[in-house]
Amino acid sequence: MFSEELEKISWEETSEAILSKTEADVQRALGKEHCDVDDFMALISPAAAPFLEPMARLSKKYTEERFGKTISLFIPLYLTNSCTNSCVYCGFHVSNPMKRTILTFEEMENEYKAIKKLGPFENLLLVTGENPAKAGVDYIAKALDIAKPYFSNLKIEVMPLKAEEYKALTEHGLNGVICFQETYHKANYNIYHPRGMKADFEWRVNGFDRMGQAGVHSIGMGVLIGLEKEWRTDLTMLAYHLRYLQKHYWRTKYSVNFPRMCPSENGGFQPNVVMTDKELAQLTFAMRIFDHDVDISFSTREPAYIRDNMAGLGVTTMSAGSKTDPGGYYSYPQQLEQFHVTDERAAADVEAALRKMGVEPVWKDWDASFDLIGK
Ligand code: SF4
Repeated sequence: MFSEELEKISWEETSEAILSKTEADVQRALGKEHCDVDDFMALISPAAAPFLEPMARLSKKYTEERFGKTISLFIPLYLTNSCTNSCVYCGFHVSNPMKRTILTFEEMENEYKAIKKLGPFENLLLVTGENPAKAGVDYIAKALDIAKPYFSNLKIEVMPLKAEEYKALTEHGLNGVICFQETYHKANYNIYHPRGMKADFEWRVNGFDRMGQAGVHSIGMGVLIGLEKEWRTDLTMLAYHLRYLQKHYWRTKYSVNFPRMCPSENGGFQPNVVMTDKELAQLTFAMRIFDHDVDISFSTREPAYIRDNMAGLGVTTMSAGSKTDPGGYYSYPQQLEQFHVTDERAAADVEAALRKMGVEPVWKDWDASFDLIGK
């Protein structure tokens, strides 16, 4: 399990190693066809900041070689905002006296139909808060069953499950799981996640092993940038985790996402660090140079100008037309969002902008029948 590997890696020594990287380390990494985690550390270090242009060129080259000039589009659907956790940065936390929604099966189907009217989406991400008593595995299985006739690629972002539960959901059409570790800083993890099942660091970090053991086709990972001041160290831990998973579950496809927190104007949780646009670009290029095959996903948290400019330079997947409140497309369009959508363009406008940049939007990149090939 990855938690055992993580015990062997010192956060402090990793932070020091990143800050001690030199221009020569960066140039060495840029000259390599296959980078290791040490090279990734050089590429995200302050020493690599002056190398943004050559990094962008290399990242573009690897991205086009592996993915062509394409961006795969997906849309998230929040099924619930009912949550038993108390993440200090999230409006859905258990102590917030807000109205909670768990979509009925009829409401879900209305949402699926409404989404299909927004664009020819085939990639759907189903999102829930973490409340297994009220919206557990059976509820998610039924949501997948109802979604199957409408979408060919179904992913979930829900509470970490047991391996046998992930396996059972694959029988209902599940193709991928996204889970954010939020931070790999074990000592600080409980500051942000003080109560509820998410407070169990090991259960969450080892969830990715359980997905791999269950044979989930696609695993998505990420840390919440803004929690730990030393974001470079957190991303290095993610790079170690990615390499570990690729070694142990080599049939699985992986994706990464770099959600950045913004300062809140209404006095909510304030990020401990704000990542600049340039740093986000550097991180994205570094990840692509480190791993030519990993999907890099940008959500609508990011503004339109960043998403448009990064398309084709490393990013390969984007959400579009997103609502981050349950039933936001049809049933309850005016509830509290989980996070603010910055790129509010309609899916058709995102598509048009990508085409203008010479990038082909892909609505369908997976079909369950692919899974039968080779069986
Ligand atoms: S981040 Fe997720 S688990 Fe945490 S309170 Fe919000 S919905 Fe619940």
